[in-house]
Amino acid sequence: MYIPDSVLELMEQLENAGQACWAVGGCVRDWLMGIVPHDYDCCTAATPDEMQEIFAGRNLVLAGLKHGTVGVVTDSGVVEITTFRTEGGYADARHPDWVRFVRDIREDLARRDFTVNAMAYSPRRGLCDPFGGREDLKNGVLRAVGDPGQRFREDALRILRGLRFAARFGFRIEENTKKAMHAEIAGLDSLAKERIFVELEGFLKAAKAEDLVSGAELICRCIPELAPTRGFRQHNRHHVHDVFGHTASVVAQVPPTAQLRWAALLHDIGKPAVFTLDDAGEGHFYGHASVSAELADAILHRLKASNALREEVVWLVKHHMDHYRPEEKTARRLLSRHGLERMERLIDFQQADLGGKGSDAPDESLLELAQLRELLRTLAAREGELTLKTLAVKGGDLMARGMAPGPEIGKALNGLLERVLAGELPNERQALLDAVFP
Ligand code: ATP
Ligand code: MG
Repeated sequence: MYIPDSVLELMEQLENAGQACWAVGGCVRDWLMGIVPHDYDCCTAATPDEMQEIFAGRNLVLAGLKHGTVGVVTDSGVVEITTFRTEGGYADARHPDWVRFVRDIREDLARRDFTVNAMAYSPRRGLCDPFGGREDLKNGVLRAVGDPGQRFREDALRILRGLRFAARFGFRIEENTKKAMHAEIAGLDSLAKERIFVELEGFLKAAKAEDLVSGAELICRCIPELAPTRGFRQHNRHHVHDVFGHTASVVAQVPPTAQLRWAALLHDIGKPAVFTLDDAGEGHFYGHASVSAELADAILHRLKASNALREEVVWLVKHHMDHYRPEEKTARRLLSRHGLERMERLIDFQQADLGGKGSDAPDESLLELAQLRELLRTLAAREGELTLKTLAVKGGDLMARGMAPGPEIGKALNGLLERVLAGELPNERQALLDAVFP
């Protein structure tokens, strides 16, 4: 296994002091999968006190000391080394009641969540794999270490980590592990909301439609507002899926950014509440975008998402049904109001939404979206995003020509912007001044 010199050096220093040290967890798994690890965690027989002695004179980060973690500052970042430990009792289903330092790597591996995450590697001793992680990796299987029910009762977050890892690596969840994930579903209720948010987001970014469908019950337990969309028939000739199935396919089709994945998950959540059936037997969901946006706002508040993410998701959900003609005037206004980046995000979303109906989406709508995107890009390149900031005349220019300071100035500037956006005036200083002072 390749281990960077900065990490290797620390491992050797511990070994030379008589303390076993291993690379462990994600980096070993990634290495065996042929993926370059994003970081290298190590564990050691040395206690935190012993580590501090061995690394005396080095710059240390001691914030994780009570969990047994010492961070060593190296040229290539902080390397975290954690004393072998075992945990017991999760009375609050969040934090272990106790953590005990141990001397055997196997005891440390036994407290880890899944077999593929419970392997360690040492340049001196090779691979340590007491739970068959390598075999599971080869077969693409995600399996809990030890008794799955007990492991999920100890820490229900592992249920969501399981969903996330299975989606990320395209693994099948082993039968007993999967059964226990569902049997212990109530544990999700007591998890801290922000932990749920982080795991769900990781899952969403990796998920394919079938991951959402097979994880539906677990996802709906975290976001109960989604539950009514499961099995909700749309009575619409353009939609072959139920609302949840459609949602799953839109999530999988939007680019894997947090904004788009969350927006996709929540965009139709208001549909069941506004459903009507007309005389011809056709289903309608009038106003569902606004209702979904309100629900999305409440859900992301509850899950403690950042304000920036919540606001963007709510905006996307609220506008996902908007229809804009691919015309220059419209495009210029959209650029002025929302900017190119946000508009392209909405178009990404609308394209996926059309693609997620499972029937042939009306080609016209897709074509119009492609045209609108093209037009927005062309305009943005040619004219930039026209706003009060980029208007060729500023308040100072108007005052210099005798306009009194006050609300008149703002009114005049907004009036000019409107006329430029309408294509009546060019965004040129002289032309704009002439329009105000004929
Ligand atoms: P990633 O590439 O996402 O960082 P990772 O496997 O490194 O994957 P981390 O969340 O960084 O995941 O955790 C590091 C290791 O700690 C895991 O590989 C696993 O062995 C162990 N671990 C983390 N969280 C838990 C948990 N809730 N229960 C049991 N073991 C855990
Ligand atoms: Mg990690």
